[in-house]
Amino acid sequence: MAKLDRLQKLTILADAAKYDASCASSGSIKRNSKSSGGIGSTTGMGICHSYAPDGQCISLLKILLTNVCMFDCHYCINRSSSDVRRAAFTVDEVVDLTMDFYKRNYIEGLFLSSGIIRSPDYTMEMLVQVAKKLRIEHKFGGYIHLKTIPEADPALLADAGLYADRLSINIELPSDAAIAEFAPEKSGPLIRKTMADLSGRITEAKVERRKSRKAPLFAPGGHSTQMIVGADASDDAAILQTSAKLYTGVGLKRVYYSAFSPIPDASKRLPLAAPPLMREHRLYQADWMLRFYGFSVGEIIANAQGGLLDLDVDPKMAWALMNRQSFPVDLNRAPREMLLRVPGLGTKGVGAVVRARRFGRLRLADVERLCRSTRKMRPWIIAEDWHPGARLDSDMLRAQMARPAKQMDLFAA
Ligand code: SF4
Repeated sequence: MAKLDRLQKLTILADAAKYDASCASSGSIKRNSKSSGGIGSTTGMGICHSYAPDGQCISLLKILLTNVCMFDCHYCINRSSSDVRRAAFTVDEVVDLTMDFYKRNYIEGLFLSSGIIRSPDYTMEMLVQVAKKLRIEHKFGGYIHLKTIPEADPALLADAGLYADRLSINIELPSDAAIAEFAPEKSGPLIRKTMADLSGRITEAKVERRKSRKAPLFAPGGHSTQMIVGADASDDAAILQTSAKLYTGVGLKRVYYSAFSPIPDASKRLPLAAPPLMREHRLYQADWMLRFYGFSVGEIIANAQGGLLDLDVDPKMAWALMNRQSFPVDLNRAPREMLLRVPGLGTKGVGAVVRARRFGRLRLADVERLCRSTRKMRPWIIAEDWHPGARLDSDMLRAQMARPAKQMDLFAA
């Protein structure tokens, strides 16, 4: 490896981290120093915006410790057989960089991942050292998200949770067969076992904290994973079934979906083209339905052609179109779980409707005020002065719902 200065390393290792979807975006994001009340602004190298467990949007330094890797996962630009420029930070360099950015108010936290250098234990130990030094030596109070290595000693993962707010292990592919084919050094069962162990520790720590505020925190933001979409032949049904199992089986807080983007010098096993970005978006919507709207995977994929979600309409709308007999839903009477199934009505809107209807019957204008827009939901709801009538049975409904909002004239009040 050529000798590189800190800026050269940052350039390589921030760019290498951009393939991880656990941050909403990476690369150059300029902070508005005025609105944040902070000082200065950043050129943005390696800085991404992400969401903390409490929903707050935070800026993170998103980097790899190193992009050197002894594994050869076919979908990864940093795999051992890839001809990319390599770099490696030392533990102290990452700590100094983080503190430097933090003190300048460029970032509110660190997102640190790494290729596997020398051995899983060696790499995991370095990642833990970064977090430990930040917390213990520098009293760093910012957010820390550490990628963890399932092949590493469980004791090291247990250490990581003491210093990180969130831990994650990327499963990357939805089936054990795909993992074996595309990431030959990894093991699906081991990844899931490590996730389950983390989940157990997180739960234990929460129980202990309830007994005593002096009990140590352990990854209080939970643990998450990422799945790549379109690198292998897995369809959306397989991806969502895996997500559902991870949410219920290993207590995962969040699955991130990342549309495969062709990488330079790619393995011949990979597709030449990226899947439509809309596919990734539809998976996020379907994931939301699993976690917050009470749908099962079976319901979401019931009409998925070839196992793929409809790209023209969102999956909640697709379900409603298939189940018109369940509509219209009376906003003044329906139980919360049915309100959650109304297209265009989100969790906040449902909460607002449930609170407001205690004080009087809701008219369409009230719903409009509470939910900002009723355009998408009009064919599906009844309000005090609104009934969709024959609109619900219209053959045009699907086409109308798939169009941009300004063309949805059929449903004008
Ligand atoms: S272990 Fe991680 S960094 Fe290494 S090749 Fe696989 S995905 Fe890439």
